[in-house]
Amino acid sequence: MKLTQLGLASTFVAGLLLPLQAATYIHAGKLIDGKSDKVSKEQTIVVDDNKIVSIDDGYLTPGVGDKLIDARDKTVMPGLMDMHTHLSLEFNKTSYAERFTKNAADYAYKSVGFANTTLMAGFTTVRDLGDSYNVTVSLKNAINSGLIVGPRIFTAAKSIATTGGHADPTNGFNAIIKGDPGPKEGVINGPEDAYKAVRQRYKDGADLIKITATGGVLSVAKSGQNPQFTQAEADAIVKAAKDYDMTVAVHAHGAEGMERAIEAGVDSIEHGTYMSKKIMKLMKKKGTYYVPTITAGKYVAEKAAIPGFYPAVVQPKAAAIGPKIQATFKRAYDYGVKIAFGTDSGVFPHGENWKEFIYMTEMGMPAMEAIQSATIEAAKLLKIDNELGSLEKGKIADIIAVDGDPINDISVMEKVTFVMKAGQIFKQ
Ligand SMILES: [Zn+2]
Repeated sequence: MKLTQLGLASTFVAGLLLPLQAATYIHAGKLIDGKSDKVSKEQTIVVDDNKIVSIDDGYLTPGVGDKLIDARDKTVMPGLMDMHTHLSLEFNKTSYAERFTKNAADYAYKSVGFANTTLMAGFTTVRDLGDSYNVTVSLKNAINSGLIVGPRIFTAAKSIATTGGHADPTNGFNAIIKGDPGPKEGVINGPEDAYKAVRQRYKDGADLIKITATGGVLSVAKSGQNPQFTQAEADAIVKAAKDYDMTVAVHAHGAEGMERAIEAGVDSIEHGTYMSKKIMKLMKKKGTYYVPTITAGKYVAEKAAIPGFYPAVVQPKAAAIGPKIQATFKRAYDYGVKIAFGTDSGVFPHGENWKEFIYMTEMGMPAMEAIQSATIEAAKLLKIDNELGSLEKGKIADIIAVDGDPINDISVMEKVTFVMKAGQIFKQ
C-alpha cells in the first residue's frame, strides 16, 4: 500500500482507513524476468495498481487487505508477446468464399473470441499484421475500454500491397467486382501512393505499417516470392511511416523483395523464407528483426497435403514455402540475426501460439532465449521496452505463470495457468 493512494481512493472500513486498491503479492517458486539468463527461485513480486512496485528474495507476507497469489509451484515470467497475429480471422477451407458473404461485423464478432483465446494462452501483447475493415483497430479500442477481454494490441490494420500483390484485396475476383483498389484500400503504385496509403492507415487508427514486399502463400496469385515493391516505393513507405512515428513490418519470402525493404530501413522481416546470407548480413548491419512464423509454415504445409483445402493456385505455394521456414530460422539464428517471436496466428487456430517455442528450440535456440524473444526482444521491436517486456520494478505488470519449468521442458508453455495484464488478473 502506498500512502499516496490514501485520500480519494480510500474508504473507512471497521475503523481502519484502507485503500480500495490493495496490492497483489505473487509468490513465485521460479522467476524468469525476461532479461537475465538465470532463473531466480523463491521471489515475491508486489503489484500495485498496474505497476510492479518491487521484486524481492523470499516469500514476503502480504499486508492487511492485500491479495496473495501462490505460484510457488510455478514459473512466473513476463506476459508473452506475439509479433505476428491476425486476430480478425481464423483461416479455414471456406475463408475465400466468406469474403463474398461476410460483413465487417461478422469478422468483428469472431475476433472477440480470438482475442480472448490469445490472452488466455498467456499473450498479453500482440502486434496484429493485417486485417480487413480495420476490425483490429475497433478490437483494440474495445479491449482498451474494458468492453471485452483481450491482449494489448498494436495493429497495422489493412496491409499495404501493390496491384495484384499479396494483400491486394480483390485478387482472384471476377472482372465485374475486381475494380481497381487504390492507396485508400491499401494498394499502391508509386511513391506518392505510398504516402497516401500510410497516411490513410494513420487516419484509420493503425499503430504501425505492414507491407507485403513479395508474393505470399495464401493470396490468390501465382508467385509466393517475387518482389512486389520498387525500391522507390519501399523507401517512400518507410519515410512516410517515420513522419508518423510508425514502424514498418514486412511480409517477405523472396530475397530480392527483402533486400529492397531492408535497404529502405524497415523494422522487421516476417517469414523470411528464402533469406540468403547476404540478406542476413544486411539485417545484422541494419538491426532489422526477423519474425519467423514457423508455426504457420508448418501448418500450411500440413494442410496443403489435404486435397481441396486450399485453392489450386495456393496449394503448390503452401507445399513449397511452408516446410522451409524452420530451416530458415535456424540459419538466421546461427548467423546472429535479431529474432522476435511471431507466429502468424489466424493462419492456424488462435491459442496455439505456444507451438512456436517448440519449433524454435528444436532448431537449437535455448529455451531462455526463446522466452526472451517473446518478451524483451519483442518489446524492443515495438519500442515499448521501457514499460514492458521484463519483470522489473516500475514496469507495467504483465505477468504470467506456467506449471512446471520451461527451461527443462519447453512444452509447459502450452499450460499457462495465470495471466495478469496491467495489474488485472484474467486467469488464475
Ligand atoms: Zn501474416
